[in-house]
Amino acid sequence: MNSFSIRHSLAALGAPFSQPCNPTPVSAPQWLAFNTELAAELRLPQQYWHSDEGLAVFSGNTVPDWACPLAHAYAGHQFGNFVPQLGDGRALLLAEVLTANNQHFDIQLKGAGQTPFSRRGDGRAPLGPVLREYLVSEAMYALGVPTTRALAAVLTGDWVQRETAEPGAVLTRVASSHIRIGSFQYLAARGDHARLKTFADYVINRHYPACASEANPYLALLAAVVAAQAKLIAKWMSLGFIHGVMNTDNMSIAGETIDYGPCAFMDSFNPAQVYSFIDTQGRYAWGNQPRIASWNLTRFAESLLPLLSVQPEQAVELATAVLQGFNGQNEAEFLQLMSAKIGIVNPVATDELLIRDLLNLMSANTADFSQCFRLLSRSVSNSSAGAAELFADKQGWANWAARWQQRLAEQSIDLIQISQQMDNTNPAVIARNHLVAAAIAQATEQADLTLFNRLHQALATPYSLSDDNADFALPPKPQQLVKNTFCGT
Ligand code: AMP
Ligand code: MG
Repeated sequence: MNSFSIRHSLAALGAPFSQPCNPTPVSAPQWLAFNTELAAELRLPQQYWHSDEGLAVFSGNTVPDWACPLAHAYAGHQFGNFVPQLGDGRALLLAEVLTANNQHFDIQLKGAGQTPFSRRGDGRAPLGPVLREYLVSEAMYALGVPTTRALAAVLTGDWVQRETAEPGAVLTRVASSHIRIGSFQYLAARGDHARLKTFADYVINRHYPACASEANPYLALLAAVVAAQAKLIAKWMSLGFIHGVMNTDNMSIAGETIDYGPCAFMDSFNPAQVYSFIDTQGRYAWGNQPRIASWNLTRFAESLLPLLSVQPEQAVELATAVLQGFNGQNEAEFLQLMSAKIGIVNPVATDELLIRDLLNLMSANTADFSQCFRLLSRSVSNSSAGAAELFADKQGWANWAARWQQRLAEQSIDLIQISQQMDNTNPAVIARNHLVAAAIAQATEQADLTLFNRLHQALATPYSLSDDNADFALPPKPQQLVKNTFCGT
């Protein structure tokens, strides 16, 4: 039965968890993109599909009768500094939707105008960051990474003033929820333990229902979020992805990638790589992401302490034991993912050294991350082919390749099969910075979506690439290199 099924569970909780707020109308909305496949999954009525009626809803010009718009309240540590009230300053939850298989999703407008949490911001989003989030979030989805998704993007017809005036846009994004670590910090900072409990029960019911029957449901919630984040960060790492602003308000309780800002996939491998120009200390560098996730989860645990035990010392002990599990889970997941990337089916502990040595060699030779793993499948039986071309240190590469080939031989699996598996694991095309930047420039400067559409299409099937798009697989030429990405606020 194809019926659009709506919930307003967060709205039903009322204040202080959220504040009702309508979108602010825009002058002259125009379609940029619409995700038909996702619309079908959400059972969104076809009257909204790429239509004038849909344009009115997804620009914020009309509030349909099924919506109950609200801004969610949250706090957060931004670059390590606690801000007790952030909240949805430029985002509005329209409604929650149940899919045919009972999955629960938020539909949220981003850039639809000021809210009670906008502080000094305009509540708007420029075109560039909207297109970036659309492309990168959909690319992550196609790569099997838990993520928010993009349902629609529209131009507003109004200008947004940033460093320069930029065309304004609204992104409609979809997530299992937009609840963050900062949502809990907000309640904990107010010392409102009763509402903290209400909210924790709500989150357990919505995201981790199995926790409800555990002896200590809130400790089980902490463990579930730790496990989800440990997996998520390992996936990011295995793709050379850098989130860029891992503030606690940008870390989803559901373990999805959320709040795409100055994010990027790395080109040449450098564990200290940062793209966000505001991240001058490298806090959110590629190699620092597990450490930061663990730090963020510690802030989550601190918020939950009053619920973990009536005895403060015991609460800390319980939380600490769960938090200590993060590193082991994250490393085990990373080992599994990286092993698959180099064709190892059942990794053992010593494979970690093989992987570390490859990463060190890649870093010393500034090998392109994605290209190197993609080319590796052609080196399984001939170490002078495939990835060899990326290493100036020929001897270093030959030594590593010999160890690797010996390890592959021990598996007694046909090498052709191994290289096929590797090609289904290592993407041929990722949302490279210079491509995303070129698509944004073409859209912003020439009102032309050709490159955006081509890239979007190619990213939907990341493990294969048509000949027309062969250039998408290549690292940037020196003159194409993008050193910074932008926050988009
Ligand atoms: P972000 O950098 O997107 O994680 O945002 C950090 C905080 O600033 C969140 O509370 C946002 O809602 C808020 N914010 C970001 N951009 C704007 C804007 N243009 N207007 C109002 N609030 C904003
Ligand atoms: Mg944010």
